[in-house]
Amino acid sequence: MAHYVTCTICKKRFDRDKYPAVLVNTRRYAHASCAGALSEEQAKEEQDRQALEEYII
Ligand SMILES: [Zn+2]
Repeated sequence: MAHYVTCTICKKRFDRDKYPAVLVNTRRYAHASCAGALSEEQAKEEQDRQALEEYII
């Protein structure tokens, strides 16, 4: 049985039985590849914030 979900990042519908998907939020899915790109960006933001905090201290 297919499980169609909409990627919250690229907004495309896909079958999560056929493509790797990650649960990004309650009942919200994204392609694993899209989520990977997102978490990389989030990681960078986190790094920037830490750098800023160190600068302030
Ligand atoms: Zn996607």
